[in-house]
Amino acid sequence: MIKGKTALVTGSTSGIGLGIARALAAEGANVMLNGFGDAGAIDALRRGLAEEFKVKVGFNDADISRPAAIHAMVRAAAAELGGVDILVNNAGIQHTAPVETFPPERWDAVIAINLSSNFHAIQAVMPEMKRRNWGRIINIASAHGLVASAQKAAYVTAKHGVVGLTKVVALETATTGITCNAICPGWVLTPLVQKQIDDRAARESIPVEKAKLDLVSEKQPSHEFVTPGEIGALAVFLCSDAAAQIRGASLSIDGGWTAQ
Ligand code: NAD
Repeated sequence: MIKGKTALVTGSTSGIGLGIARALAAEGANVMLNGFGDAGAIDALRRGLAEEFKVKVGFNDADISRPAAIHAMVRAAAAELGGVDILVNNAGIQHTAPVETFPPERWDAVIAINLSSNFHAIQAVMPEMKRRNWGRIINIASAHGLVASAQKAAYVTAKHGVVGLTKVVALETATTGITCNAICPGWVLTPLVQKQIDDRAARESIPVEKAKLDLVSEKQPSHEFVTPGEIGALAVFLCSDAAAQIRGASLSIDGGWTAQ
């Protein structure tokens, strides 16, 4: 169903974004990767995906905190691979601190990267999706788009914002072939979370393995991490015909976290 379509996945050089890019490529979509990292490693990743799944894979190093760079990336994807049919707003960062000492520049960065980038990317892809009357917009929110945790003022605010933006875009596209939904993962063991585990181990003077189990168990009744592959499979389903009437939903994939 998505064979030959063009997917742009922000923040796909690592973690969840890479899992989603792999899953879409495996279904035959051509993929534009985005994110930061070592140029040689990213090129090897790009070539590896293209070879394994026999699809076109591009890379754009846009810093998505810059709206002009997002618009340029969407133009580059169109020129290289064809207009964007599937947009996955995935890139995100974290910063933890109590609200009274939260550095204002980290607040601005989290809001720009985790929330405003979704708005700018949606604005950039919408004309072409409307012209084709087909599109899939998938915003990677979080369990923190639905519930809060202490020390995460900017992240929780941004992710709740993503859930709201998702609903508005879904309503505005409700009579078209474009759908917009959010995926709300619980803990996924990626570099973003490994940093929080390492910080916790240091803070509590406990082994990293114990910090890892404590972190996942205190939120997820399953006591197990969600995997990037599982999130990729959900994204593929949202791109299918069967998901055509899933609109404005926030789909939890969180080991039971938000069922409590
Ligand atoms: P990650 O740190 O492994 O990957 C983040 C990706 O975003 C990387 O490719 C990085 O290069 C890219 N990136 C960061 N800043 C960027 C910028 N300014 N411009 C372009 N690219 C940028 O993180 P992850 O855990 O895979 O998280 C991906 C998304 O999933 C984020 O939105 C995160 O909030 C969300 N999420 C993660 C978890 C989790 O437990 N890991 C849970 C829920 C939601």
